[in-house]
Amino acid sequence: MTFEGALEYGKGLLEKAGVLDYQLDAWYLMEYACKICKSEYYLCAKEEMEDEAFQEYTLLLKKRGERVPLQYITGVQEFMGLPFKVNSHVLIPRQDTETLVEEALKVLEPGMEVLDLCTGSGCIIISLLKHARVKITGTASDISKQALLIAKENAKHNQVEAELVRSDLFQNITGKYDIIISNPPYIPTGEIPGLMPEVRDFEPLEALDGAEDGLFFYREIARMGRKFLKSNGYLYFEIGHDQGRRVAFLMEENGFRNIKVIKDLAGNDRVAFGNLPAVK
Ligand code: GLN
Repeated sequence: MTFEGALEYGKGLLEKAGVLDYQLDAWYLMEYACKICKSEYYLCAKEEMEDEAFQEYTLLLKKRGERVPLQYITGVQEFMGLPFKVNSHVLIPRQDTETLVEEALKVLEPGMEVLDLCTGSGCIIISLLKHARVKITGTASDISKQALLIAKENAKHNQVEAELVRSDLFQNITGKYDIIISNPPYIPTGEIPGLMPEVRDFEPLEALDGAEDGLFFYREIARMGRKFLKSNGYLYFEIGHDQGRRVAFLMEENGFRNIKVIKDLAGNDRVAFGNLPAVK
């Protein structure tokens, strides 16, 4: 089989399996299996592929055809221009979440202490630490021990230092922070069966399920957050596209002010933030 033939075969197989980006994914898996870049591919497109490489490619295609997310096969996802290792214990970082990080970057001041709740792969706190123009300190927590192992590797790989705490929300958190940031699970339980198989069957359910109305974690974090925020402290949330009004209301009910809801690049509400009034 030539490289070109194998790629066509891959595209066909993934298309039949119902993979949305079947052309791109067939290429990414070839890149991964054969360790070639696009320009190398064009040079060798008509050449025969080694049997071993073709077998490896077929194996990866089969997994993807079973709807295992591409990133769980290749083991990485880029986020805010940085590489993040992922496995099935953590949510795959989404481009939408970059809007959250970019908003929080705007308010960072020297010496600020930031807490990232439900950190998963660590993508939020690590990219904040990496892209901050001033020196800040970061703490991140997750209920999952396996997720924290991945976050630890990601911090090391991206050369930032974050304190990692295993905690069910604020349970094991001490001290006060300038910013609490979180992309908590926010999908209503009833909507989970209707998600794409990649998400529904392979991403960790505990990273997705926001209980009955999807707002469980916002309620808890908004209610308890003020105890862990300094005077004037900020709360930043990623939210679902239809949750802006309700999350803003929850924040207001819990004493947050200057609440704003920001859209992502696709034009959907994606971030809600506000701050506690300064204590005089
Ligand atoms: N904070 C992580 C992310 O944004 C994980 C979010 C989650 O598990 N709900 O990717």
